[in-house]
Amino acid sequence: DGTSKCKWSKDSKNQEPSVHTKWDWKPKNQKILPDILAAIGNTPMVKLNKIPQSEGVECEIFGKCEFMNPAGSIKDRVALRCITEAENNGTLKPGGTVIEVSSGNTGVSLAWVCAIKGYHSIIVMPDKFSKEKENIIRSMGGDVVRVSMAEKKYSPNGMFGMAHVLHKNTPNSIIIDQFSNPSNPIMHYDTTAEEIFDQCDGKIDMMVMGCGTGGTLGGISRKFQELSPQTIFIGADPYGSTYAIPDSLNQSKVKMFEIEGIGYNELTPPVCDRFKVQKWYKFHDKDSLNMSRRLIKEEGLLVGTTSGLLLACALKAIKEFNIGKGKRVVILLPDGTKNYLSKFVQDQWMEQRGYMPCKNPGNLGWWDI
Ligand code: PMP
Repeated sequence: DGTSKCKWSKDSKNQEPSVHTKWDWKPKNQKILPDILAAIGNTPMVKLNKIPQSEGVECEIFGKCEFMNPAGSIKDRVALRCITEAENNGTLKPGGTVIEVSSGNTGVSLAWVCAIKGYHSIIVMPDKFSKEKENIIRSMGGDVVRVSMAEKKYSPNGMFGMAHVLHKNTPNSIIIDQFSNPSNPIMHYDTTAEEIFDQCDGKIDMMVMGCGTGGTLGGISRKFQELSPQTIFIGADPYGSTYAIPDSLNQSKVKMFEIEGIGYNELTPPVCDRFKVQKWYKFHDKDSLNMSRRLIKEEGLLVGTTSGLLLACALKAIKEFNIGKGKRVVILLPDGTKNYLSKFVQDQWMEQRGYMPCKNPGNLGWWDI
């Protein structure tokens, strides 16, 4: 009859048996995994509902929930592949130290794999990236060296220069170098791209991606060239970054952006196939971060900063490319809300930067006096 009766507890004498609707759904019972590394990948693909509807979008938009990887981001895949390859080719030896430059997620994932496999990790993190990611790395036994974004990248105090200084001074150490390490795009070619293709039964009309190292863009677009060459690739880039093509799109007064993980200036990573993208779009922090907040609030997807940028971009591209009813668009949701508890998640942080109307003007803080 669509209902089932149950007593909440045997000794609740005063309680009437409560009536519930019939409940057929149960969580999938996974067999025992050998370790937590085996839980990487096979992340859910989730249909967005409220946002596309309220934006008048008729096609379907799906989000690939990479924030549901065990250490919290798409970079778990890359960290496992890079470390395994380094073990296999003999560069990473027992008791070794893994050094890497990261906006934080690769750092977290590497520190995590190192903790499990018994290596030490040192992560070089530019100052703009969140304290939350630093704290997670430290909790897993990794070291974090902060560098200034204002430093030249290859100077001894800059992000890449510092990694080389640390490497020189640390015996038995390797630098992963995700910006040029082929294991980065290859892992997405082998796993992320195939999962997306299978989950959507091979029907994907548009993919929207950004570029940090370009590993996801490189790996997924190459696999799609083989599996689904008709899929349109769209690129999302923050103002202040110089990844978009043509370069005229990058002209802007913006020097610093709050999006973490997508976009750099004066950097062209070798693994990044920027020419695979049919059209690039640029976005300001305000639009991207408000869209991340909408993903959290309206879709219940606990995402980080880049997911909002990618969705804002998807909504624009869907309109410009006339992607209508019956078509399917996929965006990545690369990392999660908990990386940003001290940042865009808080109303006051958004208000202080003018990204949200101020609800309580008396509450802005000393800098507004
Ligand atoms: N989003 C987030 C949150 C990231 O940390 C990264 C990686 N820096 C990306 C997107 C972009 O991934 P990729 O390095 O593969 O370009």
